Amino acid sequence: MTRPSAPTFRLGTILRRRCPRCGEGSIFHAPLAMNEECPVCHLHYGRGEPGYFTGAMYFSYALAIPLIALLTLIENLFLPGWSLLRLVGLATAICVPLIPWIWQYSRVIWIHFDQYFDPE
Ligand SMILES: [Zn+2]
Repeated sequence: MTRPSAPTFRLGTILRRRCPRCGEGSIFHAPLAMNEECPVCHLHYGRGEPGYFTGAMYFSYALAIPLIALLTLIENLFLPGWSLLRLVGLATAICVPLIPWIWQYSRVIWIHFDQYFDPE
């Protein structure tokens, strides 16, 4: 068995939702189900700490808010008579099907961020 390499912050690994240490193991085994640990290098994704993924909430906001803002701007081009509240409501409704995607990537980015700055 080879020794796992140090975590790196690689965009391709994040986009493929892979382990920050080995870059091979999948973080998810279903759209809304995470692996407890990397199936390749056995890195424990949650570090066994309750509330570990609270930090992912910040990345969830960082993904969702710009998306809603962009959709609101685009909607304003096609629906200029609508109020800002209605435009934001429509943009939020359009984003609802993206919740699993945003949830997954917020956790993946959080795991990579945490492992980059504080590897086990
Ligand atoms: Zn791994």
